Amino acid sequence: MIVKAKEYKAKNGHTYSAHVIEGGSLYMIYRNDKMMGQVNGKKKLEELFDHMVDKDKVDECNCWDNAVYYEFNQDGHRYHGYECGVCGKHLQSG
Ligand SMILES: [Zn+2]
Repeated sequence: MIVKAKEYKAKNGHTYSAHVIEGGSLYMIYRNDKMMGQVNGKKKLEELFDHMVDKDKVDECNCWDNAVYYEFNQDGHRYHGYECGVCGKHLQSG
């Protein structure tokens, strides 16, 4: 019997899923309804899906579209630059 081991709905609109023969360790990876590959072992499977989640997190924030200007004085120095107003990532200093 083939069971669904994992499913992930990605931001790009695709649904990724992993199917495995019950008790087995060879996972068939599907994108939507199309098989796109296989991974062997639960560890590899976890890595693959973790990677998809991480990738979505990165794509989520287009930092330069959300850039905000900052300026402050500290110890006689004037600091200014840009940082992302959404995730707080430092983009540029002057
Ligand atoms: Zn950002």
